Amino acid sequence: MMGMGLILLIWVSTTMCLINVSLEFDPVDNYLIDCGSHTKTPVGDRVFVADGLNSDVLSTPQNTFVNTKSKPISSTIDLALYQTARILYGTSHYTFAIKKHGRHWIRLYFFPFVDGNYNLSTAKFSVLAQDFTLLRDFQPQNGSVVKEYSLNITSDNLVLTFTPFANSFAFLNALEILSLPDELIPDGAKTIGPLVKNQSVLTRALETVARVNMGNQTVSPQNDTLWRFWVSDETYLNHVNFVNFVSKIGAVNYSMKWPTRNVAPSFVYGTATTLNSQLDPSTLVNVTWFFPVDPGFDYLVRFHFCDIVSKTPGQLFFNVYINSWLVAMNLDLSILTSNILGTPYVLDVVTSSSYSVFLNVSISPSNVGNTYPNIILNGLEIMKLSDSRGSLAVRDSKGNSKKKIWVILSIAIGVLFIAMFSALVLFVVCRRRRRSSPVDHSTEDHFAINGGGISEPMENKYASGTAIISSSKIGYRFPFVAIQEATNNFSESLVIGVGGFGKVYKGVLRDETVVAVKRGISQSQQGLAEFRTEIEMLSQFRHRHLVSLIGFCHERNELIIIYEYMENGTLKDHLYGLDVPCLSWRQRLEICIGSARGLHYLHTGSTNAVIHRDVKSANILLDENLMAKVADFGISKAGPEIDETHVSTAVRGSFGYLDPEYLTRQQLTEKSDIYSFGVVMLEVLSGRPVIDPSLSREMVNLVEWAMEWEKKGELEKITDPRLMGKINPDSLCKFGETAVKCLAERGIDRPTMGDVLWNLECALKLQGNDEKRPDLNGDLALETGVSTTQFNVGSVSNLEGVSMSRVFSQMVKAENRWTETG
Ligand code: ATP
Repeated sequence: MMGMGLILLIWVSTTMCLINVSLEFDPVDNYLIDCGSHTKTPVGDRVFVADGLNSDVLSTPQNTFVNTKSKPISSTIDLALYQTARILYGTSHYTFAIKKHGRHWIRLYFFPFVDGNYNLSTAKFSVLAQDFTLLRDFQPQNGSVVKEYSLNITSDNLVLTFTPFANSFAFLNALEILSLPDELIPDGAKTIGPLVKNQSVLTRALETVARVNMGNQTVSPQNDTLWRFWVSDETYLNHVNFVNFVSKIGAVNYSMKWPTRNVAPSFVYGTATTLNSQLDPSTLVNVTWFFPVDPGFDYLVRFHFCDIVSKTPGQLFFNVYINSWLVAMNLDLSILTSNILGTPYVLDVVTSSSYSVFLNVSISPSNVGNTYPNIILNGLEIMKLSDSRGSLAVRDSKGNSKKKIWVILSIAIGVLFIAMFSALVLFVVCRRRRRSSPVDHSTEDHFAINGGGISEPMENKYASGTAIISSSKIGYRFPFVAIQEATNNFSESLVIGVGGFGKVYKGVLRDETVVAVKRGISQSQQGLAEFRTEIEMLSQFRHRHLVSLIGFCHERNELIIIYEYMENGTLKDHLYGLDVPCLSWRQRLEICIGSARGLHYLHTGSTNAVIHRDVKSANILLDENLMAKVADFGISKAGPEIDETHVSTAVRGSFGYLDPEYLTRQQLTEKSDIYSFGVVMLEVLSGRPVIDPSLSREMVNLVEWAMEWEKKGELEKITDPRLMGKINPDSLCKFGETAVKCLAERGIDRPTMGDVLWNLECALKLQGNDEKRPDLNGDLALETGVSTTQFNVGSVSNLEGVSMSRVFSQMVKAENRWTETG
């Protein structure tokens, strides 16, 4: 009897739960189609109908169906929808009768599988809905994707038109058309940023770019009244260590008329990302999420807030930013929700991404009131808004009509005239200024923070495919065609190096600026994150000892970064590369001083120190005058990073240069850079690689070997044999002493970059005093001859400097597993 009762109770509560979700919203227009299928396909509590042979909603010149046994890598319940597809040759139309005017969702499912004669990833097509272009020359690649659009439909029919590219075809795996609750997207969003045109959201088509649940939890369509999938926020976070993830679903209370459960479910409002409570309250940090977007469009950003953390109302105040634009200051949710904790609140903002490939959202604690600093965000949606031509597709960069070419040409000529005139004015002004106020460029720090977004300077907003002018030396977006032209279509003969990100080419822009072009090999999350960090960092920090960013390209699946070209390559090559002249002691000291200046600037040039994390001789580049510039900011971090609670940051850096304290304790501070710089100093002194397996056992590891000599008080024994007798002993002593301090076991015992710089300058002075002695004269020591070094260089080229992030993250994970179980 008891058993029966229990079963009944479970049945009732399960059914209630299902009814609760499914009865919540019943769309008037509800078309669910499994394309190319002959049978109905249930997905959760919904059923997708087969569009079979004689579909009454589709008109197409030819019916072709394909199916596959392969499945996309996905854990969602809609897998069955991807097993079949309809191929569309020629222009085809899906027409749906619309019973209720207003906003509708169009969801298109694509999975480019290979089946016998068909390889769906070769498809290329455009999709139009009413007068809006949803996709242009779309080529679905890499796994499954659901494209979601929302349109305000005011006619009795919705027509979707699929147009294949010449000699290609279109395909579709599944399709949803749903009328949406009226309250979902109200007008009246706040607008921010300079480029937002005063256009109502109501009349525009939207494309969902991101739908994210904060609190590091995904929400599946079964738990959402509108069958939405919410991804977790962790991958978008800039600093996972700055946050806590909170979950209290039961605390959510829809006590206001709006937002309703349809705006976002309690699974979204009941989880949140807040500030890490273990952070020092005096550390003012921003929690930032980065999202890839298409530049040149406006975006509707929807913030979902719900205070599930405060014990009493009025304890939480924070500031909200988009791309460093202030959206709300001292936001107090309790006032906005009638002092009822757990009440959802939505903030809609329309903004333009300007010309950046990322849109960032930041929340920082406010110092209003006497409360413990905290922030909260529960969910975030980013929707791209159709442009003035009714398009959601990125503009074609080729420009195919003659008319277009003429327009561009006329604009280019106009721009050229204006540019020449401005250059003349600038030249005159600069000359006047230079005459009136001499500046000491050796100590000048060029420093401009743009608030985290990669923004394009106004003067450089050239449409894709037009002339490129690099003279401003401010990073901006390049069209792919311009980079192809500069590198002779990525000619192998122009490859100057290969790194973890991909190949590096020498290129020449139209204005004859010589550049280094780094072309990414993958679009992985990791690659994208490093691409972003590199651009963000370099566009924020400008310094004569940091390599300059000239521009970047994120187009056609390409990730490309363009830098100033460094004629003399890497310090590593100059220390022990083949066929390079031996650097004199003075030159080595100057290179160390230059790189130390670059790093010192990173560590101290802004309120938040920036930690490079990959200081090594391969990342110190030399210009035509052998002036050093620090490069490669792909894994750098604004710090210090506080990570005492859990191990979530993979150890990054290069083998042989890694700070042992960071390896074991994973506390990342500037002192890790100091350690790596100490290793570089030893390389500079010894002219040998950091790890050289071809040497006798005690010599393989440069640091261990150097420390052995240091203990005996004979560090000079490791000196590059080519410099024997050419170094002033005091200079050598000062240099060695400083390097050893940098390599101290504990970070707190290491000097700051400022101290290192001071000591290096001292070492240079000490060397300079002896300049009358020809054997100590740095310049005379510049010899080409055969190296007398006893170190084998070639044998280690594959080992030393290898990016070991993966190896070490595995090590760290293994260590954790051991700690957890042991
Ligand atoms: P990893 O990225 O794995 O740490 P890396 O730092 O050697 O390795 P990259 O930064 O991609 O890799 O550079 C590869 C090579 O390209 C360098 O060793 C250098 O020879 C060359 N290179 C990179 N940037 C420039 C530049 N701005 N000017 C001239 N040469 C460059």
